Amino acid sequence: MYPKSIEELIKSLTELPSLGPKSAERIALHLLDKPHKIEQLIKAVKNLEKVGYCDKCNSYTEKKICSICENPQREKNKICVVEEPHQADIIEKSGIFKGLYYVLHGSIAPLEGKNPQDLKVDKLIKRIKEDHIKEIILATNQEFTLHYMVKLLKNFKVKVSCLAKGIPVGGNIEYVDELTLKEAFKGRREV
Ligand SMILES: [Zn+2]
Repeated sequence: MYPKSIEELIKSLTELPSLGPKSAERIALHLLDKPHKIEQLIKAVKNLEKVGYCDKCNSYTEKKICSICENPQREKNKICVVEEPHQADIIEKSGIFKGLYYVLHGSIAPLEGKNPQDLKVDKLIKRIKEDHIKEIILATNQEFTLHYMVKLLKNFKVKVSCLAKGIPVGGNIEYVDELTLKEAFKGRREV
């Protein structure tokens, strides 16, 4: 079979999401053929060390505050809450929302051992209290997370809205097309 170094790389690649053994093998052999790509990849991966979480919204950023939170053009009194950073990215690309985001970094799934205390809500509460937030849009249709967030936010003087139907219950915004997402945003209702 392959030398140990190749086998080890294939094994590491297989541990990445969505990469089966065949694809991992293909990538490993490709890199072996193109040494300049190895350097490029090492540099790109190393650069990830610069990435941290935004102090305000928990999105990924290389600075203390992310570019969206820093942008004076954004509607600063609206916050769209998402479970994971890439969901904010999907909404951003749709262009439907001009406010700010907040990333929970998780969802509640009791059967998987994911509980309310696993959600990062502390900075959101701080922002509601300090930043004159008028509306919180919960861009999740994950039942437990939605229920918990609605209950939590009822304690504060802020309008809380959910996305309109169109997004399957328990489903995620990443599984809907852009038009459905836009409609769900436009038709959001207060809870
Ligand atoms: Zn931010």
